[in-house]
Amino acid sequence: MEFSTKIIHTGQSPDLETGAIVPPIYMTSTYIQNSPNSHKGYDYTRAGNPNFTNLETTLAALEDGRYATVFSSGIGATTALFSNLSEQDTIVFANDLYGGTFRLYEKIFKKFGVKLLIVDTQNLKNVEKALAQKPKFIFLESPSNPLLKITDIKTITTLAKKYNVLTIVDNTFATPYFQKPLKLGADVVLHSTTKYLSGHSDVVGGTIITNDKTLDKELKFARMAMGLNPSPFDTWLTSRGIKTLAIRMQKHTDNALKVATVLNKHPLVKKVYYPGLNTHKNHSIAKRQMSGFGGMISIEFNLDIEQTKKLISSFKIFKLAESLGAVESLVNHPSSMTHASIPKKQRESQGLKDGLIRFSIGIEDIDDILKDLIQTLKNYYG
Ligand SMILES: *Cc1c(COP(=O)(O)O)cnc(C)c1O
Repeated sequence: MEFSTKIIHTGQSPDLETGAIVPPIYMTSTYIQNSPNSHKGYDYTRAGNPNFTNLETTLAALEDGRYATVFSSGIGATTALFSNLSEQDTIVFANDLYGGTFRLYEKIFKKFGVKLLIVDTQNLKNVEKALAQKPKFIFLESPSNPLLKITDIKTITTLAKKYNVLTIVDNTFATPYFQKPLKLGADVVLHSTTKYLSGHSDVVGGTIITNDKTLDKELKFARMAMGLNPSPFDTWLTSRGIKTLAIRMQKHTDNALKVATVLNKHPLVKKVYYPGLNTHKNHSIAKRQMSGFGGMISIEFNLDIEQTKKLISSFKIFKLAESLGAVESLVNHPSSMTHASIPKKQRESQGLKDGLIRFSIGIEDIDDILKDLIQTLKNYYG
């Protein structure tokens, strides 16, 4: 079955009892048992629910993986993954990660004696040096948040395998519609389903997909033991939203490429970060490992922090908000919002300048999107 058929039919079977085309929402905390521990596969919703199973079946199929586990959020999924670590374990992060992932280490897991190495995934010597220290895993995003850096996933996973280290790829930005990390050798794929997978800014959720049965069991145990489960309604909403993933992603990409191309020539723009532009540093790698470039763009403007804050609050269609990947266009100021938890010095050294604005390009009409951007820039400086 092809991708756009799978997103509609896999894990979305009609209800056998009533014939309802859409599986119902199982708003239940518990399940009756015939005798102790004899039940139909579910005993308590913290441990499992038919709506979780439905969504997990869809997500595993989309990533061409065997197992998926859904969580309360992307960070909930990351917490489950990190909960396997012990004191003195070392982990490796790519140097451009979602701020909350970094915060989860810095404020929580560091306290338990887990050690962190940060590497530039473009610098293979550096990566290899870190891998040689026998970390439990290397964690990366490609494209990354917010600088849209592209990591050659196959090169990194090949190197990691040499040292017996797991590779975790946060595939939130690309989605499985454009990129399948497991096929590129990754061991674990993570998503904030809050973003493109659910796609409508109405639910927070996360998932992990893997081919490793033992790891999957550990993740489901962690979800149950730590209370990282989503709600049945939230997973149902995600199953609803995901059905249009293919057509949404196509539109996000088409719109984003147009915005990137137009703003790339704008006099107020210092630099456009978009992997679909052939001026992007790793455009050729992106082209090789992705079938499209997604809807996220970051732009560095020739503005100071106050000017940037004013500009970002002035758009009409683009709403100023955290989050990304939904039907409506959003803007975000990484250095004061999503990535404020990273110390300023470290932020700047990573290229997260005060004049940087992150755009989540929605699926509105492209003419309205461009008009909003151009007109606001003109009003502001006209
Ligand atoms: C939003 C996001 C997360 C965190 O997910 P939540 O659902 O907000 O917990 C992790 N990684 C990336 C790339 C994200 O954009």
